Formats: sequence, C-alpha cells, structure tokens
Amino acid sequence: KNDNLFSALRAAFPQDLDTIAVETTSASGEPLNYSWRDLDRMSARIANLLGSLNIPSGSRVAVQVEKSVEAMALYLATLRAGYVFLPLNTAYQSAEIEYFITNAEPAVVVCSPQNFGWVSKIAFQCGTQSVFTLGDDRSGTLLERAVHCADTHEPAVRQSDDMAAILYTSGTTGRSKGAMLSHGNLLSNAVMLKDYWGWRAGDVLIHALPIFHVHGLFVAIHAALLNGSKMLWFSKFEPKAVIAAMERATVFMGVPTLYVRMLAEPSLTKTATRNMRLFISGSAPLLIETFREWQERTGHTILERYGMSETIMLVSNPYRADSRYDGQDERRGGTVGFPLPGVGVRVQGDDGQPVPVGEIGNIQVRGPNVFSGYWRMPEKTAEEFTKDAWFKTGDVGKVDARGYVTIVGRSKDLIISGGYNVYPAEIEGFINELPGVAESALVGVPHPDFGEVGVAVVIAKPGQMADAEGIIATLKKQLANFKIPKRCFVVNELPRNTMGKVQKNLLRAQYQDLFK
Ligand code: ATP
Ligand code: MG
Repeated sequence: KNDNLFSALRAAFPQDLDTIAVETTSASGEPLNYSWRDLDRMSARIANLLGSLNIPSGSRVAVQVEKSVEAMALYLATLRAGYVFLPLNTAYQSAEIEYFITNAEPAVVVCSPQNFGWVSKIAFQCGTQSVFTLGDDRSGTLLERAVHCADTHEPAVRQSDDMAAILYTSGTTGRSKGAMLSHGNLLSNAVMLKDYWGWRAGDVLIHALPIFHVHGLFVAIHAALLNGSKMLWFSKFEPKAVIAAMERATVFMGVPTLYVRMLAEPSLTKTATRNMRLFISGSAPLLIETFREWQERTGHTILERYGMSETIMLVSNPYRADSRYDGQDERRGGTVGFPLPGVGVRVQGDDGQPVPVGEIGNIQVRGPNVFSGYWRMPEKTAEEFTKDAWFKTGDVGKVDARGYVTIVGRSKDLIISGGYNVYPAEIEGFINELPGVAESALVGVPHPDFGEVGVAVVIAKPGQMADAEGIIATLKKQLANFKIPKRCFVVNELPRNTMGKVQKNLLRAQYQDLFK
C-alpha cells in the first residue's frame, strides 16, 4: 500500500485526462490551458529528473520561484518522487534565503533565473547538490532538463508518517520555524475538508493566493485536485480580473485583505457573484465589517476558518447548518466556527487547567493533521507540546456554549497592564466601530507604573478623518480603565507581511520607548 499523497491526488484526476485542469494566462498575457494529462506528464518528467540525481531519501527540495502552474507541477513532482518539498516566500532576500538554506540543507534548490547568481552561491556553500532555475514563463534549467526525462513515473512508496513537506511559518511573531508535515497530515486534512466544505462535481476554484504558504499550497490546491476540479489560476491577485472570473467559478479562497480589495471595486455585485457557491477566508482575522459588507454587496456569507502551518486546518464555520445543533448553525462573523471533524480543540488557563465555557485561554489542539515537530528544533518542539501531547497553538481564544471558537489574539500579543489581561482583539473591535476608523491594532509597550500599557494604531477610512483623542475619550465611556489605550496614533498603514498579517512585533518596536 502506498500512502504517498501524490497517489491520492492522482487517483482523483478525472477519467478524461484531456479536459482542462488549469486555466491561466501566460506571462505575456495570452490564455493558457493545462489538461490533467499535462499535469500528470509534467510532474512525471520532473519527478524522473529529481530521481536521476541520486539524492538520498528524505532530501529537501527548496523552491523559491514566482507562482506558475509549472511551480505547482514541481510540488507534485517532489511528492511523487518521495522527497520533501520546501517552499520559500518569494519576498525573501539574501539574508533570509541564507538562513533557510543553511537551516534546511536542501539537496536541490530551484530558484528564479534572475536570482541564480546569489542563490546558487549560498546553496553550494551549504552543500546543495543541484540548483535549477524556473521562470514564470516556463524558462529555466529545470524544464530544459525535465523535457528529456520520461513522462511516466510510478510514485515512490511512502508511509503515512513519512515527511512530505517542511513549511516555514510566516514569521509574524519572530523567526520562522520549519513545520515538518507528513503525507498523512496533509492527506487526512484535505480529504476531510473536501467533504466538510461540500466540494461537488462541477466546482471550479479561483486560485489567486501565493503557493509558498499553507493556504494557497495545501488548502486550495489539494481540495481542487482531490475533487478533480478545474482551477482558474492567477499568478498575482488582481481584484478586477478575479471578480470578472467569478461568473465561471464556484469557490474562492482568500486572505482578508483580498476581500477588502475586492470590496473597493464597483464591479463586485450580486450579479457578478451569482454563480459562486462558497467564499472562504483565513490566515488572519476577518473584520466583522468586511464580513457584513460582503454579505450586503454580494448576498454571500464568507466562511471563515482557522489554521496554521503546523496543523493545516483546525476550525471552520459550517458549510451547511449542522444537524448536531438542530440545524440552527450558521456562519458567524467574528468567529472561526467549530473544530473540524477529527480535530480536538481545548482551551486552557496558564495554570494548565481547562477554563470554563466562554472564558478566554490558550488554544491547544490535536489530531491526525498536527505536525510532528519543528525541523531541527527539538527544544522548541518539546516546549510547544503539552505533557499529554496537545499542540500549543500560541493563539488565545474561547469556545462558547454552542461550540463556536473565537480567536482573540496571539499569546505573544497579550497585554498585561497593571496585572490585568488586555486582549487586543476586544479593544480593536470597539475601535473599529468608531466613526472614521477603517481598522486598528493594539499593542503593548513597556510602562514604568503598569508594566505594560496598550497603544492603539489606527487607520482612517479612505477620505475620512479619525480623531485619536476622541477615540480614547469614547473608549473611556465604554470600557474598564485598564483596557483603555494610553496613546492612540492615526497612521496611513499597518505593517503587514505577504500573507496580509499585521506584524505587531514591528509596531511594538516602534513605540517601545513611548513611556520611558
Ligand atoms: P509565526 O508562527 O512564524 O509567528 P504565523 O503564526 O503568522 O507566523 P502561520 O502558520 O502562517 O504563521 O499562521 C498561523 C496563524 O495565523 C495562526 O496561529 C493564527 O494566529 C493566525 N490565523 C489563521 N487564521 C486565522 C483566523 N481565521 N483568524 C485569526 N487568526 C488566524
Ligand atoms: Mg505561528
């Protein structure tokens, strides 16, 4: 029996391999289609090329290339050949690449043709055997070499707990860690999500996310492939083009900023989205305003879900009303929904005891989807698992009586002011409701009397004014004194990483001397 994830994905390809699997446009803007047979042959050729290199089993294939269908084929080929796929954010520059390559010691590195000079230098210094290039226009040595390889390939035999990928976390709270994910982690999650989100024959996915991250690489691609569904593939997210594609699609997955950008387009209407079945959001909190505005404009209710590199998907709002709860469930804005089937979620206090229903605590999880540990970080791995083998997500949240999970922030972003816990998401929620405010971030900075105090950083709505003094004055009427930000700044934008996550560590650094 072969537990290789690729085998399961391949088995789900439609009978007629000549139908279209991916529709995209070439780098020069021409329409470009790939059949299922193309995906099969391309991944076979690249798998054969990797196999011909005589690299040891367990070798990492590190990839930093622009998004393309060929880059997806490289992912599939790496699984197929039984090696470990290691995608890297395209924004990373030399210092970051040096860290990842030194840390991961990949046997093979694939980079963009224009980066070959500096990437290969770093790679060869770290003992990498082969460096290939792959451009977003099918250029580069990877395909030049693969063309000469056979276009059939028997997938390497892998066990469920053999490593399939190392996914570096987004580095939102500090240095990225490599999460080791197995074939079984990835497949069990994908199979469960296909069912939970109601994937059905004829579904078409709009794929507009980067493919170096859990959301675009695993959640989106696995679901479409396992369902034998066509993808409309966007190398870059362009709101107008994505909205225009909706009449030919049924499912869209995005990070919150993508939804915000589409809402700014007048072409986003009920008519434009009438063929769509499902909008999914995750990777960062979806503002309740965005959730509501999307409902008003399109008539669709965004399904928000929660997950992370270490665990893939954990919690999701229901696709359909859940019979376990008298069919009364709905997708609730501001929550991430229910623990997914097979996933255990519990909330604990800092004392390691479960908190009462509805109270805030540390979110811990377990299940077939949870990774085995951080690559070459045994101490860190040990720290992040409890004695009874639950993974500490680092997120803080609560579960209500009905079972809805709400994330209130990350434990690293918690503010302890005068001995009281302040949960940033709660205060941000109040600030976001105030006139002129588009969004906000609350961070804790050192304070001589209180230990820490909150500082609010606020973005005004386009063309409107937000009044920093007024915000604090209003909050004082609504909230306990220890929750009130001591200072408020109205700025033009919040620092975000490429996944649209607000980098609170940068804000903390910026304001850390405010009360010294
Ligand atoms: P690092 O671990 O390196 O600091 P990161 O945690 O941002 O970075 P990822 O694994 O990409 O790296 O992101 C997972 C995190 O994203 C979760 O722990 C959670 O904080 C956040 N997240 C994901 N989905 C949601 C959501 N729907 N609502 C709120 N937060 C979310
Ligand atoms: Mg994390």
